[in-house]
Amino acid sequence: MGKIRILDESVSNIIAAGEVVENPASMIKELLENSLDAKSKNIKIDVKNGGRDVVISDDGIGMSQEDLLLSIERHATSKIREKEDLYNLYTYGFRGEALSSISAVCKIVLTSKSDDDEIGSQVNAIAGKVTNLKNIQRNRGTTIEIKELFFNTPARLKFLRKPTTEYLNIKEIVIQEALSNPDVSIILSLDGKVSIKTSGNGLENSIVEIFGRNVLKNIKKFPLGYLGNGALYRSSKDSIFTFINGRMVKSKIVENAVMDGYYTKLMKGKYPFAIIFLEVDPKSIDVNVHPSKKIVKFDDEERVYYQVLNEIKKSFERDDDFISPTFEEKIEKEESKFLDFSEFEKFTPIKAEPQKFENLTVIEKPQIEEKKVEDEIIKEEKLIEDEIEESNYKVVVQEEELDFSIKEEKKEVPQEKKRVNFRVIGQVFETFILVERDGIFEIYDQHIVHERILYEKLKKQYYGKDISSQQLLVPIRIMVDPREKEIIFENEENFIKAGFEIDKFSDNEILIRAIPIIDLRDSIENIFRNILLNIRENKNLDIRENILISMSCRGAIKANEKLSYEEMTKIIGELHEIGEYTCPHGRPIIVKITYDDLEKLFKRK
Ligand code: ADP
Ligand code: MG
Repeated sequence: MGKIRILDESVSNIIAAGEVVENPASMIKELLENSLDAKSKNIKIDVKNGGRDVVISDDGIGMSQEDLLLSIERHATSKIREKEDLYNLYTYGFRGEALSSISAVCKIVLTSKSDDDEIGSQVNAIAGKVTNLKNIQRNRGTTIEIKELFFNTPARLKFLRKPTTEYLNIKEIVIQEALSNPDVSIILSLDGKVSIKTSGNGLENSIVEIFGRNVLKNIKKFPLGYLGNGALYRSSKDSIFTFINGRMVKSKIVENAVMDGYYTKLMKGKYPFAIIFLEVDPKSIDVNVHPSKKIVKFDDEERVYYQVLNEIKKSFERDDDFISPTFEEKIEKEESKFLDFSEFEKFTPIKAEPQKFENLTVIEKPQIEEKKVEDEIIKEEKLIEDEIEESNYKVVVQEEELDFSIKEEKKEVPQEKKRVNFRVIGQVFETFILVERDGIFEIYDQHIVHERILYEKLKKQYYGKDISSQQLLVPIRIMVDPREKEIIFENEENFIKAGFEIDKFSDNEILIRAIPIIDLRDSIENIFRNILLNIRENKNLDIRENILISMSCRGAIKANEKLSYEEMTKIIGELHEIGEYTCPHGRPIIVKITYDDLEKLFKRK
């Protein structure tokens, strides 16, 4: 007798369930999408017991009794009839697998009523087997109650994570769906507490309702969606939300385009907040290949990449100041009760911490002892080193062509000279510059301000004509090892372009005969050594960028340096002319505090 047998349906359903119902979150995704496919306007999800007990109710088109019974059968779907339909999908589901798979691994109660029916119906099933069927009074729509998920699959049950983790995943899913369906009101409760609640009144409302008012304050609209400023940077890509034809997907290409669009505005290891909507011909994408429908592939990846990249770049050109974070009040946290930020570990501003502000209210200059000053200097040096390290990381992302194209664009459209009205109030801690500009109180980090100016100046000169240089009366002699020597003379062209003139002196020494004419605040030897160090440590990186970034980073005004009003006014003015508001590695330059923020802090409001 042969050994191969067709599996009993209840067994094959359990196997299929493994794919569809990985965990409570993926189950909720399926249920939620069913409700959305049914054109619901209001959806309520109650989750308890770490995701094992779930009730989801909607006011969608509902099901007749006959459909209700069929819905938990394998490959039962109302969404496609023939093969061709597969290529023109406008619904989330189509496989007819979700309800059958889910019902195979839990105790389920489905009630529903469609417009055509006088009365609703209710079906009970345990592990996929119908145990009861009856009529029931109810409004149009569907309610599905899942009880004791995985009760008959102990192995899967064991793999459930702790409730807080499952809840976090569930929230993530519900946020995605709520953002893709801003015209539907979605309410998620976890253990009886409302966690997410959208009103169905459009995307901007949904964003406020989900992320809190602070996020809305720090994003701006652009033709493809919304972009967040420096206050919303976070340390994973989860805050880049991509929607293709209204569905949330993951796309490497889109994520890369967003990252490259921010380029020097990002810090190492930080990712921007962005919501990107793309409309493409459904035939030109490969989605739904995987049951979880997460990852999408485009036929024409390059086009998509440049579409997103160019829109972001254009948007920053129009409003280059946008990236500066606004001051965030602590009050926000209480306001946005639907999403506990600490739990979600998102959207904490990097520089704009309120504590910083408290320091500022100290009007007298604090007495820093000698030792402390020394520590500060060491700290700053360390920061600079970190920056250089960061910068190298960034350079990989940059494409050479990009640089030139930006430059050319700028040439073609002669930029009208910007008129900036600002007043320097003073300097605090010999490190930060206080400014009033356009009715906003701003705090600038003097090192980064100057660094950005140097970087832009050097870049312009470098890629335009050579940086002008000055012959030294007494050449500087520097010790180098054979590796360094090789680097220098292999890249002599680049050093010459940057304004250095170098000669061999002895086996382990070189002479610097000329140096760039630019206001650098460190010794040439230090700067030059730093360039060498960086090139050596990051061999496969663009040497020219390395030179420029080392020069601007090392050469810039440091913290703990007293500046005169004239100096401050000069550099702030220059910065606004340039219109770049992060350091070349993405640290913010300005923190803004509005009148409103101050009023709130002093409880006037
Ligand atoms: P699919 O969504 O792939 O069609 P499912 O197993 O998820 O498969 O659902 C099976 C069928 O049950 C759907 O095609 C739909 O007709 C019906 N259905 C499921 N959930 C709902 C709901 N909330 N409202 C109305 N109909 C539903
Ligand atoms: Mg479905």
